[in-house]
Amino acid sequence: TRTIVITGAASGIGKKTAEILRDRGEKVIGVDLKGVEVSGDLSTPEGRRTAADEAIALAGGTVNAVIACAGLSAPKSITAKVNYFGMTEFLEAIRPALAKAEAPRAALISSMASMQPVAEPLVDAFLAGDEATAVAIAEQLEQDEAAATAIYSSSKRAISRWVRRVAPTAEWAGAGIPLNAVAPGTVVTPMTADLLASKEGSALVDAMVPMPLNSHQGPESIANLLIWLISPENTHCCGQTIYCDGGADTVLRGDDI
Ligand code: NAD
Repeated sequence: TRTIVITGAASGIGKKTAEILRDRGEKVIGVDLKGVEVSGDLSTPEGRRTAADEAIALAGGTVNAVIACAGLSAPKSITAKVNYFGMTEFLEAIRPALAKAEAPRAALISSMASMQPVAEPLVDAFLAGDEATAVAIAEQLEQDEAAATAIYSSSKRAISRWVRRVAPTAEWAGAGIPLNAVAPGTVVTPMTADLLASKEGSALVDAMVPMPLNSHQGPESIANLLIWLISPENTHCCGQTIYCDGGADTVLRGDDI
């Protein structure tokens, strides 16, 4: 049995991932605001640390894998806190417990929204690890409805870059820990339910995220890929963001690889 810590395990993709792993007999320690093993708020530095400590204690000190799913899509400054620092700081806090494990692995969720227009100063503040500046920029963006959508895309652009930067370092690759991301297209979860409920909302999403292969996806499409990325079979995937998005990345990015 492997012990796997999953953030955002109370809903959507994280919940589905936890279900599949439990069905396979793995031990899952969920982290979310409420309703799972560890209640914690990943929007604050203190909340991240406490949640990681509690998860490690429940795991008995050794964690085989961690999957960071918790995130928000609201065009608000809290999205900057949860989507970037709530993933990076949580993963860093769990890393020592991973380093003690057999076949340790880590994965997180980015988004094909990382390809959409971003606010470069916000991306830079994220990657500098400067939460105060990132939040200040996000609070500015939040004032303007059109600009505010860049909070989410910037958080995801930064998280995909962070994965590329840290995955090959001594702390991760050097310690034998593959770290990778998955970028979904439009996944049918509580996060997208309101948007997809109306024809107009759905059309708006589809104009931004074209999915020629099978259209909108269920959470299991992402869960199964995350599960492979954290499996012992994944020996050489390092620092990648894997687009599992019905082809949206290929349509939007074309030849630009
Ligand atoms: P969801 O809303 O169903 O689940 C997200 C979970 O994160 C919730 O359980 C929520 O309570 C938790 N969370 C939010 N803020 C938190 C906090 N401060 N502390 C702890 N937990 C917190 O959404 P989902 O669709 O399953 O999204 C999961 C991830 O996938 C997110 O990172 C999201 O950005 C990403 N994503 C989703 C889609 C989509 O179409 N649904 C597309 C691309 C990327």
